[in-house]
Formats: sequence, structure tokens, C-alpha cells
Amino acid sequence: MTIGVDVGGTHIRIGTRTHIKEFDTPGADIPALIAEFMREHGGDAVGVGIPGTLDRDCRVVLNTPNIPALSGCKLADEIERAAGVPCFLENDTIMLMTGDLNRLEISPDGVILGVYIGTGLGSCVLIDGAPYCGVNGFGSELGHIPLYGKSRKCGCGNFGCAEAYVSGSYLQALRAEKYPATSIVDLFTVMDELDEYADALAVTVATAVQLFDPRVILIGGGVAAMRGFPLDKFKALLYTHTMKPLPAETLNVVTSASRPETIPAGVLGAIIHAESKLAALRT
Ligand SMILES: [Zn+2]
Repeated sequence: MTIGVDVGGTHIRIGTRTHIKEFDTPGADIPALIAEFMREHGGDAVGVGIPGTLDRDCRVVLNTPNIPALSGCKLADEIERAAGVPCFLENDTIMLMTGDLNRLEISPDGVILGVYIGTGLGSCVLIDGAPYCGVNGFGSELGHIPLYGKSRKCGCGNFGCAEAYVSGSYLQALRAEKYPATSIVDLFTVMDELDEYADALAVTVATAVQLFDPRVILIGGGVAAMRGFPLDKFKALLYTHTMKPLPAETLNVVTSASRPETIPAGVLGAIIHAESKLAALRT
């Protein structure tokens, strides 16, 4: 049995295919939490999704803007020491997409773009089943593409990044400033900035569509599952911002919320990822 871990900006989920435990991220000792879970449930390996950049060998966390305490951490070594089994780190968006493709029964063939809106804005590009990876280990960081003429400060330290306009952190700040009486899960149903929000997301995704010409555009994450998420507005604006007739006429947007989860996609993807890495080690 393999363990999957999804490290988010606010919550950490640790689980098997049948048991999930959730913890708050701030102040969490991740290796100790995994070791404790494994003492109870067993396991021969652990896959961990990280919301940030890893070194090319996927052993060290280089930069996690939404969890500063993890930046620079040799997390795979620490987890292996604490839990006593092999640990396989990967960018959380790749884990989420692996889980979603599995549960939505979407073939990984061709080019697939994953866009996940949570605390931050994560993305990845899968090419014939393999995540695209550049020289610095970056798959794609759509959240930190600068939007022309925009200047809001981003968690990464730059200004005008897409993430500062479409992420859960932005929505939390907007709620605190303008809609304090509304719960965050209902924010889309009351906010006046819906058109601006949908347009910022569409411009960002259109950039990746023009670069990669994907067969499937998978939109997921907690924000995309919120009540009133402007999916139709987003799709119409994505069409507006992409080239006609192609790729605009063939845009294939799928949301992870289109099918209910039995276990969180990030945990499922981390389990599948660790299983395949462990199988490769053993052959
Ligand atoms: Zn940024």
C-alpha cells in the first residue's frame, strides 16, 4: 500500500485510497505527520505533492511562496528518515492532474493543460503522459506570468502576476476588504468583480493555449469548485482571447468538479505517482 500526501497552502491531506486525514498547514511538521500516519496504516512508499518549485531530482523544495517555511527544505530526505520508506516529491499540480485524469477517465495522450486555482494558481503541461519540465525544473508557472499593465503585488515578490488576480489568496483579500459579511465559499455569488476575475483567468489560460495548443484544458482546485465560479463567462472569454478559427473552435475545457471525488485528487495522484516510481525502482 502506498501513501499519498497533498500539501496545500492551508491544509495537508495524508491518505490511502480508503483513509484520509487532514491537518492545518501552518506550523505542521510534515515528516512527523506522515510517519505517524504510516505507523497506523502501514505503507511501502509515499508520494507528496508540493505547491511550489522543486529541484530537478525532486528531492529539495526550492521555493513555496504560499508556505515560506518549506522553501529550501530537503523534504524527501527528511520524510524518508522519519517514515523509513522511499519518498517521491512532485509539484502538486502534476499530482492533482494525475489524480483527475485517472478519476475522470481522460487519456493522457497528446498535450493536456492543467490549471488549478487554490491558495495560488498552479499549472502543468502533460505531453504524451510526461510532465513538461524546463532547465530549472519548472513545468509551467502560469500563476507568475505577468499580466500586461497590472501591478498588484504577488506572493512571489513580483508585481502584476496572474496569481495576484485569480487565486484564492486574492479572493480572501477581496472578501476581507469589500465583503466581510460573506463567507468565502459564497463570494462569487455576491462580488461585483466577476467579469474582471473571469477575464484575468481567461487571458492567463489563453496564453498557455496559444503556446501549447492542448487537447484538453483541465480546470480544478478549490476555487474552481466554489459556488458561482464563473465557468461560462471564463469559457466565452477564453474563446474571445484565443485565435480563430483554431485553436478557439476546438477548446475543450473540462472541470475537475464535473465528477464528485471519492478521495481528494491530489492524494490519489500522489498515490499513483509513488506507485509508478516505486515500480520503476524495482524493475
Ligand atoms: Zn508571482
